Amino acid sequence: MSRAGDEEAYMVRADEREEHPEARCERCKRSNIVWFTKSELWNSVNPAESVLCPVCFVESAEASGVKPTGWELAPERHDPEGKPCPTL
Ligand SMILES: [Zn+2]
Repeated sequence: MSRAGDEEAYMVRADEREEHPEARCERCKRSNIVWFTKSELWNSVNPAESVLCPVCFVESAEASGVKPTGWELAPERHDPEGKPCPTL
């Protein structure tokens, strides 16, 4: 296959690739991770967007008056086999 053919094949694959609906932040348009917070906190912030990256959510929370000394980021699970997160 020629080089041009390889590039064309790659472009087709890229066009066919579907992105997870929450893979992109609706505010900053950057890639998003799988993350969550308690419903009470999300609802108290009540952002206009339904999908936010952690940074945009924190900015919204602090703008709405939630001003902790810091934000905790922790893995939900240590590995796919379900081992608990290590205590740090
Ligand atoms: Zn964002």
